[in-house]
Amino acid sequence: MAGVVFDKVNKVYDNGFHAVHDLDLEVQDGEFMVLVGPSGCGKSTALRMVAGLEDISSGRLLIGDKVVNTVPSKDRDIAMVFQSYALYPHMSVRDNIGYGLRLRKTPKDEITRLVDAAAAKLDLTDYLDRRPKQLSGGQRQRVAMGRAIVRRPQVFLMDEPLSNLDAKLRGQMRTEIAALQLELGVTTIYVTHDQVEAMTMGDRIALMKDGLLQQVSEPQEMYENPANIFVAGFIGSPPMNMALARLVRDGDGLVVDFGSQRVAVDPARVAELGELENWVDREVVVGVRHEDMEDAALERLDDGRQVSATVRLVEALGSELQVHFTFDAKAAETEHTRALAAENQDEASASATLLGHEGVRWIASFSPR
Ligand code: ATP
Repeated sequence: MAGVVFDKVNKVYDNGFHAVHDLDLEVQDGEFMVLVGPSGCGKSTALRMVAGLEDISSGRLLIGDKVVNTVPSKDRDIAMVFQSYALYPHMSVRDNIGYGLRLRKTPKDEITRLVDAAAAKLDLTDYLDRRPKQLSGGQRQRVAMGRAIVRRPQVFLMDEPLSNLDAKLRGQMRTEIAALQLELGVTTIYVTHDQVEAMTMGDRIALMKDGLLQQVSEPQEMYENPANIFVAGFIGSPPMNMALARLVRDGDGLVVDFGSQRVAVDPARVAELGELENWVDREVVVGVRHEDMEDAALERLDDGRQVSATVRLVEALGSELQVHFTFDAKAAETEHTRALAAENQDEASASATLLGHEGVRWIASFSPR
């Protein structure tokens, strides 16, 4: 097995489009690295360079300790799983899974042994004689996985392998792929635009935008300490609430001034975030996760750390209540939240858009009482 290193890797397509800029990224041996970002951010291009399906314009790409820039795809010892599964329709499941081994002239009985073992692992034993069209989407996806794992490659590359499945199956396969990767311990680079997949599957996440790497970190770290507004708006569902405000001094403390309302900043946080002092009397973006808010009336808080807001909608999700509210401040929607709202892809943003009121729309979550 081997790690993968991008060392100042660039990709400029023939038409002059610069799809990946100076990418520096080290995927450790055995690690599950998720490349995530919105459509067109360059994540598939990055993956395809590792696969040897795209030339590298500049920089170095290493698999293990070997620079592979000019090594043909077939000699890189990688296995790729595509969104389309790329199964051969006229071949049985057994032949599809064993295809790569046959190409490598692996002895027949060895192929049978390896295919049977992979099929058992993937719950495909009863389907080995079927053709792909006689399988469900999830089963086809598992055949594609089987074809990758029988080869025991150094690196798995997966490009949106779950995007053709319905939501329920996607959830199941997410867990199965993560568990399989853990068991096999094969270095994996997994491309998706779905931040839930990124959060739940990756040992680490590399988040890209416009060909530029924004942040690389463990999922929880990215959620709690996003490197910039883009990351903050991309990771997490519903997206982080954001509003424009001014940071001002008030006596000994600092206050966030939203215009019509002011909220005191917890002195402990001010001390923790020493740099806040640099932002006094400047415009700032305040970001608050939905789960970090409390109902001031219920909690009987009276320490200046609250806003008055109008509840517009309450959604009961079973384990939590999501409360949509508006208050008088200027929205600081990120590019991402704007795009989500525009496409109505995300239910939370969509319902916030439907509310259609002036002011900032935020979402808070509470436990049902
Ligand atoms: P998606 O999730 O939509 O697949 P992505 O992040 O994987 O997006 P890429 O496929 O890596 O994005 O493409 C990155 C950018 O490079 C896009 O703007 C795309 O239009 C452009 N691009 C991709 N292939 C080519 C090509 N062969 N020639 C020119 N530009 C290309």
